[in-house]
Amino acid sequence: MAIWHKQVWSSIDTAVDNPDVLALHRLWLRQQSAQPQRLPSLASLSLEGALAPFAARMTAYEALPDGDYLGRFCGEQFRHDARGDTTGQRLSQQDPTLAAFQRDQFDQVAARRQPVYVLHASHTNPWVLTWERLVMPVQADDGRIWILVFNDPLESRTRLLETVLDSASDAILTLRSLRGVRHDQGERHHWLITVANRAFARLGGCTLSDLRGHLVHEAVPLWDQLGLEDDCHEVVQTRQPCRRELQHLQGGQAQWFSVHIDPLLDGCVLRLTDITASKDKERALLADNEELRQLAWRDGLTGLLNRRALDVILEREVARSLRLSEPLALVMCDIDHFKAFNDFYGHLIGDDCLREVGQVLGGVIQRATDMVARYGGEEFTLVLPNTRLAGGLDLVQRIQQALHDRGLPDATSPNGKLLTLSFGVAEFDPRRDPSAHAFMERADGALYRAKHQGRNRVGLAHPQGIEVLESTLTAA
Ligand code: GH3
Ligand code: MG
Ligand code: MG
Repeated sequence: MAIWHKQVWSSIDTAVDNPDVLALHRLWLRQQSAQPQRLPSLASLSLEGALAPFAARMTAYEALPDGDYLGRFCGEQFRHDARGDTTGQRLSQQDPTLAAFQRDQFDQVAARRQPVYVLHASHTNPWVLTWERLVMPVQADDGRIWILVFNDPLESRTRLLETVLDSASDAILTLRSLRGVRHDQGERHHWLITVANRAFARLGGCTLSDLRGHLVHEAVPLWDQLGLEDDCHEVVQTRQPCRRELQHLQGGQAQWFSVHIDPLLDGCVLRLTDITASKDKERALLADNEELRQLAWRDGLTGLLNRRALDVILEREVARSLRLSEPLALVMCDIDHFKAFNDFYGHLIGDDCLREVGQVLGGVIQRATDMVARYGGEEFTLVLPNTRLAGGLDLVQRIQQALHDRGLPDATSPNGKLLTLSFGVAEFDPRRDPSAHAFMERADGALYRAKHQGRNRVGLAHPQGIEVLESTLTAA
């Protein structure tokens, strides 16, 4: 494939920006105008003399009688930029495409007796993207034509790569492991920074020039705080990449990074992506989920646990009671004659009443493990871990007392002028209760009996049968 290029033969001084090219071109023109019928002499444009300031980036070729060109000089900078030395080399020995490209230019400048400015894509050199060259014909004392070439790498890949790296928002760092190097700090492993970008310098709390070519724990103040060294060791040892998240406190603020460490030659390459924003979103989402979960588990009217929560909790507590052989009591309660209450006071007052009863129930339970749920319309359930039947009854009596103290009026109540509840209490018994549902049915059976015997009563599910106790507070 042909090498992309652009040639400028005339008006180089207006078409070119590179000041070195312009200066050289002027030098050539000055020599040429002194003796217009001849080419400038090599002596007047010698690499040790007039061209010395440019010599590091210059090459010189001698035109041979066989039409080839022989490399006679190769400046130090060019040797570095081009990764090679053309001195003593024939053009024909070089890469064929590049050699043909250059021979064509050399032949032309020799024939036209004038310099050419060439901008061309790099053909073989992986480090340079484009070359800017000034190709000038001169004449040696022996009459041979020499071609003097000024070579400037217009864009180097290294520089381009650095620009790309520095514009990246990810913090990037490559480390070389220096095994066996001991330091004044004893056995500490040493990592030499080979590449670091601006984002890493920012993260590490230093400047770019502090980084490249320095030991990471000396150059990066926050290196130990980042806690990445063990991961780097592991990656180097196992040759396996490492992916993890990292929390870093910067000025009291938590920053989150996703860390990628991959093996690279005798070291590793680290890439840290700031994921603080998505972490915040994730946290907000989790909070939303928790809120939703709360909503899904709570009864909207009373704020107590709902039926769904009760089912889950009771299953869990029955399983625990079985596992640990711990007692478990269950209380079911139901507002007496609540239909009549609603009919008399209206539904809104009915709702207020339900809320109040919920508060009374919630206020009476004491242990953190006790739970109150609204089971349905005007029915409530209390799950009391580590509690026997007598303990359940004790709690019920406290509820009755608290309700009585609250004095919720119920003009329709045949039991007096206050709102009352009926209760059913049972203690979990694995021989009688094959399931949580069966346990609940036993408590519900006791409640039914309390209702049946006149309401404002407590049904106690003893192993031998249900006992119904009247409330002593009825006549208040
Ligand atoms: P019992 O003493 O046998 O329990 O009689 P009751 O009237 O309380 O029982 P019943 O099951 O016949 O009626 C329950 C009433 O509870 C029906 C309904 O008017 C009322 N209720 C159920 N849920 C709500 C609610 O969310 N808000 C209000 N205001 N009333 C409710
Ligand atoms: Mg009911
Ligand atoms: Mg009722």
